[in-house]
Amino acid sequence: MNQLTGKVAIISGGARGQGEAEARRFVAEGASVVIGDVLDDLGRATVASIGDRCHYVHLDVTSEADWAAIAAFTLTTFGRLDVLVNNAGIFRIKPLTDTSIDDWNQMIAINQTGVFLGMKVAAPIMISQKSGSIINISSVAGLGGAGGAFAYATTKWALRGMTRSAAQELAPNGVRVNSVHPGIIDTPMAQEFETAGVMDGIKAAIPMGRLASADEVANLVLYLASDESRYSTGSEFTVDGGMRA
Ligand code: NAD
Repeated sequence: MNQLTGKVAIISGGARGQGEAEARRFVAEGASVVIGDVLDDLGRATVASIGDRCHYVHLDVTSEADWAAIAAFTLTTFGRLDVLVNNAGIFRIKPLTDTSIDDWNQMIAINQTGVFLGMKVAAPIMISQKSGSIINISSVAGLGGAGGAFAYATTKWALRGMTRSAAQELAPNGVRVNSVHPGIIDTPMAQEFETAGVMDGIKAAIPMGRLASADEVANLVLYLASDESRYSTGSEFTVDGGMRA
């Protein structure tokens, strides 16, 4: 219960789903957590249910000003930043030929530019501390093709290159950067598969035959946030029930 004692974390997209599960787990392990999301009412309710060491700040990950504000709040409140989980994201089932330029730009802005801006604001703080862990939430869609979700898969592949390049740049300063590749996780995002009527086919493609809970991803993210993973950087960690085996 003390793997993150004294550490301070920002989790983007933490109002619900995997980000919420990670915030709960981090606080239970001794961390203080700042959740940023666009779902302000839900985000405030989530932090109230987690407890005093969890805070909410409005964050649209596409906004450089919002990133500056959440970093300033974190430093003013806690004086440091040890962990950034770039978890916020959107998912759409849309094949290449149905993807408009607006669909494409929105996906890139949230899933890719949002991660760039998060790393850009966190890295200087962590460099000055000579320590830190950045965890970028990609997907199994970033490990293989994801036909039918063209723009989404594009962004999740991009995170691998961003993670590896940042890891190389930041390792000499004691800052680690890794990516996590969840399979199909039982959160509101997975409803997209139900809506499209493809959930049975998706489950059939999972060797373990079931979706994961958000807690099962949080266990891995906790490991990467903690000093237990101190020799891992620029690496890709899969939690997918065997989908990419
Ligand atoms: P979710 O939809 O429950 O949570 C995503 C969160 O991101 C929401 O709280 C949402 O409000 C927030 N968000 C969206 N746009 C934002 C923005 N512009 N600024 C700030 N926050 C924003 O889904 P989830 O499953 O918890 O997804 C978390 C991450 O895991 C995402 O990056 C997703 O792509 C990835 N992922 C999910 C699955 C899955 O099956 N659920 C699989 C692989 C990867």
